[in-house]
Amino acid sequence: MDIKLENLTKIYDYQKAVDNISFEVKTGEILGFLGPNGAGKTTTMKAITCYLSPDSGDIKVGGLSVLQNPSAVKKNIGYLPENNPLYADMAVIDYLKFAAELQNVPKEKIKDRLWEMIQVCGLKNEKHKKIRELSKGYKQRVGLAQAMIHDPKILILDEPTTGLDPNQIVEIRELIRRIGREKTVILSSHILAEVEATCDRIIIINKGKIVADGTSEELRKQAQGDEILKIQIKEGEVNEIFRALQNIESVALVDLINSEQQLFEVQSLKGMKSAKNIFSLCASRGWYIGQLTPVETKLEDVFREVTTN
Ligand code: ATP
Repeated sequence: MDIKLENLTKIYDYQKAVDNISFEVKTGEILGFLGPNGAGKTTTMKAITCYLSPDSGDIKVGGLSVLQNPSAVKKNIGYLPENNPLYADMAVIDYLKFAAELQNVPKEKIKDRLWEMIQVCGLKNEKHKKIRELSKGYKQRVGLAQAMIHDPKILILDEPTTGLDPNQIVEIRELIRRIGREKTVILSSHILAEVEATCDRIIIINKGKIVADGTSEELRKQAQGDEILKIQIKEGEVNEIFRALQNIESVALVDLINSEQQLFEVQSLKGMKSAKNIFSLCASRGWYIGQLTPVETKLEDVFREVTTN
C-alpha cells in the first residue's frame, strides 16, 4: 500500500512546522525520514496517522484521503509514536490484547495475532512480565508489537531506537528490516547510520521543507560533484609539489593537509579527473606516491550541507 503526500502544510500559531511538502512512498518501501530537532518529522507522521489534521494539502493512503476517510486509513496504519507510551502496570500479553481490541481485531483472531506478534517481536520470555519491568529494548519491541497487532499494511515509526543501547539498536533495526519486507514503512530518526542501515530511501527535512530525497548512494553522489583525491607524495620538496599540482590543467584546487607527511587534497575541475595527470607528473619528477585515494562524501556531510542555513 502506498502513501502520497500532496502539498502538506501544518502551522502552529505562526510557525510553519511543515511547509508545503509532497512526496510518495511506494508499496514495500522503507523510507527514512531524517532531520534535525524541530524539523517537522513528528508533525508529518502525526498527519499521516490521522492524529492531527493538516492546515492545507492532503495525504492519500492506498488512494484514500486522510481528510475524507480517516477511520479507513487508520485501519491500514500501525503507529509507534515518539517515546513509545505504554501502560507500565499491564503485563505484556494483557497490553497487547487490549491493543488488539482497540484496533477491532475480530475476537476469534486475537489469540493468533498475539501469538504471532510475540513470535515476530521476540517477546516469548517476557510476555507475562509487567511492562515497567522490561528493559528499554523490550519495551520498544512491545511498542512495535502493538503497532502491528492489527496487521496493518503500513508502519509509521517515530524514532524507534531512541534511548536504546547499541546491541538493542542492532536488534530493533533487524526487526524493522524483517518487517519491512512485507510492509510499507516510514521511520524517522536523526541518526544517519540508522537510516542508512535500515532504509531503501532517505528524505531529509529541515525547517518543514524537504531538502534532499534519494538513496544514500544518490544523495552522496549529488553532493559529491567534483572529484577530490587525497594524495601523499614523497621524495620531492613540499612547496614544489604543491605548485606542480596546482599547474595540472585538470586541477581546480590544491590543499596541503599535512606538510610533514606531504599529504594533499586535490579537487578536480567540474567533470574532470586528475589521477592520470598526477601519476605522469610524479613519474616525470621521480616522486614517489605513498597514497592516492578518492575522498568519499559521507552522508554526514550531505546532512550538514542541506540542514545548515
Ligand atoms: P524532533 O526530532 O526534535 O522530535 P521533529 O522533526 O519531530 O523534531 P516536530 O515535533 O514535528 O519536529 O516539530 C516541528 C516544529 O513544530 C517545532 O518547531 C516544534 O516546536 C513545533 N511544534 C510541534 N508541536 C507543536 C505544538 N503542539 N504546538 C506548537 N508548536 C509545535
